[in-house]
Amino acid sequence: MSTRKPPRKPLIAANWKMYKTPTQAKEFVSVFLPLVHGHTRDEIVLCPPFVDIATVLAATHDSNVHVGGQNMHWQAEGAFTGEISAAMLAAAGCTHVILGHSERRQLFGETDETVNQKLHTALQHKLMPIVCVGELLAEREDGKTEEVLLRQTSKALVGIAADAARHIVIAYEPVWAIGTGKTATPEMAAEAHLIIRSQVARSLGRELADKMRILYGGSVKPENATTLLNQPEIDGALVGGASLDPQSFAKIVQYITF
Ligand code: PEP
Repeated sequence: MSTRKPPRKPLIAANWKMYKTPTQAKEFVSVFLPLVHGHTRDEIVLCPPFVDIATVLAATHDSNVHVGGQNMHWQAEGAFTGEISAAMLAAAGCTHVILGHSERRQLFGETDETVNQKLHTALQHKLMPIVCVGELLAEREDGKTEEVLLRQTSKALVGIAADAARHIVIAYEPVWAIGTGKTATPEMAAEAHLIIRSQVARSLGRELADKMRILYGGSVKPENATTLLNQPEIDGALVGGASLDPQSFAKIVQYITF
């Protein structure tokens, strides 16, 4: 058995990014659901594009699969063309939301400050936030991994109350490993997770830090899921490319526990 302490239920989330029409999303669920039927060891979340959310929610109704958004705005509502609010995600039936994904940070100008504002709003709407942090390749090569992880984690958590914080999930996603086929070694991931957890302890206290789930993301595939997910510090995975195929994502969900 893995030695997660205290026991933290692993969470395996699919980030479909800008892939799949509603029809394709429905097809995915019809193949995927029977493959993970009755699976309770891990929390399973699908994060489809916004236009697929209603379809995926209807198709997963009464199942062990949750649905989340890939992003949201921090304001309750307003003149923000093209944006989606936390209230809209929650009212649609989403239970989770990805915040601060590196593609949002790099391509759409998200900052540590907007991630923090989004985190506050997501918690107010009872969405379980999956907050992404992770260093660029240049930052790792310059020996700045620790500094980046401490900064991103501490800034994300500014002003968060302890009672709300127990719903937060953090995803360590080294940017150089996302969609590249390169994976952090289990040791690299475990080291980064310890750094993140140490900052959570400074921001929110040791007890909450010990309970917080920290996922790994970056080219997780069926072939490496078992090794990664058996690291005691790794409490689940955020999966991009390999989550687009139902068989492949089901194999990741069914990693073998040592
Ligand atoms: C991601 O998009 O969060 C991700 C980890 O992608 P991939 O698994 O394709 O590297």
